[in-house]
Amino acid sequence: MRMTGSCLCGAVKYATSSDFEMVGNCHCNTCKKITGSAFEAFAVIPRESFTLMAGEDALVEYKISPKVKKYFCGTCGTPIFNQHRLAAGKLIVHVGTLDDPTCVAPTLNLYCESMLPWVAEITSRKNFDQGFTR
Ligand SMILES: [Zn+2]
Ligand SMILES: [Zn+2]
Repeated sequence: MRMTGSCLCGAVKYATSSDFEMVGNCHCNTCKKITGSAFEAFAVIPRESFTLMAGEDALVEYKISPKVKKYFCGTCGTPIFNQHRLAAGKLIVHVGTLDDPTCVAPTLNLYCESMLPWVAEITSRKNFDQGFTR
């Protein structure tokens, strides 16, 4: 299945040419920092199935550790994907950057030892169909 994605400002755009091999959530503390969120929803794809359609100049590389690099839009800051040495030849794409993120669903959770305690109960909280309004 071909999917497209972009950053918040639209400078970086990409397209995929195969299905994701794995879709999951990572709850490790590094992924919290990478995304600025409670956990990272990620989708793994072979490098050759991922094509940058726009924004090669906008994409910034940040070396997190000798093993992991983060790639994000230098204009709006959206994290697009990571590269991990243990997943050679793959890109770890942030699900939130897909134009239609409903087309994938995580099948596993990693680093549950660092999962924030409220995450498992998230739908039991006060829920609104849209933004909070009084
Ligand atoms: Zn951007
Ligand atoms: Zn992680």
